[in-house]
Amino acid sequence: MLAPYRLTAVARQLRSPEMAAAEILSRPRQPQPSGWPIMREADQVRFAGGRNVTLPAGKGTYVLILHLPEYRRLGIGSLGWCDFSAGHYAYVGSAAAPGGLAARLRHHARPAPNPRWHIDFFRQAADIERIWYGLGDASREHEWAGILADMRSYAPAVPSFGASDCQCPTHLFRAVQRPALAGFARRAKKRFPHDDPVRALTIRGNIF
Ligand SMILES: [Zn+2]
Repeated sequence: MLAPYRLTAVARQLRSPEMAAAEILSRPRQPQPSGWPIMREADQVRFAGGRNVTLPAGKGTYVLILHLPEYRRLGIGSLGWCDFSAGHYAYVGSAAAPGGLAARLRHHARPAPNPRWHIDFFRQAADIERIWYGLGDASREHEWAGILADMRSYAPAVPSFGASDCQCPTHLFRAVQRPALAGFARRAKKRFPHDDPVRALTIRGNIF
């Protein structure tokens, strides 16, 4: 995975994001700067309806940016029937198990055949467009949910969604406008200045 600033630099030199994506995919693998986690071929996964991406190695916290193309009433496990208007959503989770982010994101890569978590039920109808993540052994999922709750561009979607085991009002938010990494990353950096920066994986749509 090239660093985000490299992607931006490459994209600027080309006429279209699609050409930029093709260029990046056809490039030989660059050596990783020292201090970066080593990426292995085994950590590649193709998301349903999206790109083949290299998954981050290590534990961490993540936000799934999802798109629901049309209004749906969905059964969300223990929460029962819930109404979802069309649009973008942000779901916060973390991966502290030995498989780390790679194992968890691999789980989210396609709709689960046996939905278990609340997000698995929503994922049956929604596509993942972006993944924001920060590496680190300490889970920040509740604090990140708090950051989204404080932002005017997000509204709580369903009470207690993904929050069965914590005190957060919810871990799923509806985006009032198209979710942008910069505003969220800036707030996360302010709250946890020593954490790894929040990065983005593009799963569907144009690379930005
Ligand atoms: Zn929580």
